[in-house]
Amino acid sequence: MKEIDFLFIHPTTHYYSHNAPVKDLLTFVTMPLGTIAMADLIYRKGFSTKIFHTGIEQTYNRSFSVEDIFSEYAPTMVGIDLHWYVHSYDAIRIARIAKRHTNAYVVLGGFTASYFSREILIDHEHIDAVIEGDAEIPLLKLVETGPDKDLDGVPNLVYRKNKSVKRSKKRFIAGASDLKMLDYTNFDLLSNYDKYHRSINQSGDLGPYTFKTPIKKLAWVPLGRGCSVNCSYCGGGNAAHCRLTNRRKPLYHPMEQIIDTLRRFELEGIDSTYMDFDPDTDRSFYHELFDEIRKEKIDISTAFALWSPSNKKFVQDFSNTFNPVYSTLVLSPESGSEKVRRINKGFYYDNETFLKWMGYTMGEFVPIEIYFASGLSGETPENFDDTMKLAEKVIENGPVVSMSCNPIQLEPGGKWFEAPEKYGIIRKFTSFADFYELFRKLSIGMSVESRLGYDTKWQKEEQILENSFRFDQIFSRAQPSYWTEIVEGVRTLDY
Ligand code: SF4
Repeated sequence: MKEIDFLFIHPTTHYYSHNAPVKDLLTFVTMPLGTIAMADLIYRKGFSTKIFHTGIEQTYNRSFSVEDIFSEYAPTMVGIDLHWYVHSYDAIRIARIAKRHTNAYVVLGGFTASYFSREILIDHEHIDAVIEGDAEIPLLKLVETGPDKDLDGVPNLVYRKNKSVKRSKKRFIAGASDLKMLDYTNFDLLSNYDKYHRSINQSGDLGPYTFKTPIKKLAWVPLGRGCSVNCSYCGGGNAAHCRLTNRRKPLYHPMEQIIDTLRRFELEGIDSTYMDFDPDTDRSFYHELFDEIRKEKIDISTAFALWSPSNKKFVQDFSNTFNPVYSTLVLSPESGSEKVRRINKGFYYDNETFLKWMGYTMGEFVPIEIYFASGLSGETPENFDDTMKLAEKVIENGPVVSMSCNPIQLEPGGKWFEAPEKYGIIRKFTSFADFYELFRKLSIGMSVESRLGYDTKWQKEEQILENSFRFDQIFSRAQPSYWTEIVEGVRTLDY
């Protein structure tokens, strides 16, 4: 048994399929970007650490169980990420196993854990603490202090003390200098890291063809934190950041750090990246970054998620910078109805602007991925036809390689969750327990009363699911459909 100071465990979501040949499907495999950086930070300070990704371990060893980790390691502390709500059940399940098999102090972090920190600590006695918001310095301080000491000096900590729940007084929010000291590329700390980069795809799921030789190696690029707007449904918008991390405006990573990260990706043989941080419509940061990438002759592909349509110069710049093999521009107009888009999107644009942007991508032969959604505030079965019509135009006129329409799930911390009446949302999920129960039932193949967690004033949940289903029936040939079952009712996560 190896003693270790801190074990990180990523809880992959399990989804039981009654139809697939392998019943226990693994989904939402992407780890929060900061996991490796946090492990590296405490490692550089002299603490022993390792990251286990339960999905990757199980994919390559179907008999793997979380208990196996604890038969090899005796950790002083265990950290489990609960950033995205889809991990609500598995994060708690793993914490329970950790407590059963070790004496470790168990701490959670991430947006969902931060949002529900008190409820989690009150209801789940095997969780000792939650780090709220930015976690790097608080985690380091926690490890340095040790679990048996007074933890009031650990910033952003909500913890159990003498059978009551306390919140530490100190606050931490990562500034530019904090981001600069992070290293996101110490992959040796992650068990089976090579398989991780080969197996995930851009949707965050396991690659659909794991039985084929995985050629592409993919990694997310740490670009910044925060958002400048609030999309109605998103749990990672500006208001959520203000509440959960106290970050009022977006913060970019230093450019030289991004270049350095890309260089290291190249050395690791990572040929494909995903960039998803686009809070400023002028994109001057990216014009400069792309310039540097060209100067440094970094040969890499990227799928760049635009948060609003770009101008022609950006598309040209993008096309001149990245290797075309896997490079795409990604945009989510969500609805074909301008009225619905205006109510829901933080960055509003009309259809003419969207189609003009698509023309730029056509002109530069840049493939595009387009994402629509159902369930938006103000959406009706009738105006959902506008979404179908816009999708038709995308197929007819755009260099589209992927297009889908996913029903939106209720996200903790988003405007829908915080102010449902204002957005015509009738919530069925109101607490952490609701998210926990949903994913518990999905993991064992039980039927669930609600997948999305809401009706709207305009549509019942069944109609919202039906809209997306209708979309897929018509447009599925324009996109891969192999993972439809896994994500049925589950939307790609934006934050
Ligand atoms: S969906 Fe994107 S642009 Fe909209 S609030 Fe969330 S992070 Fe910001």
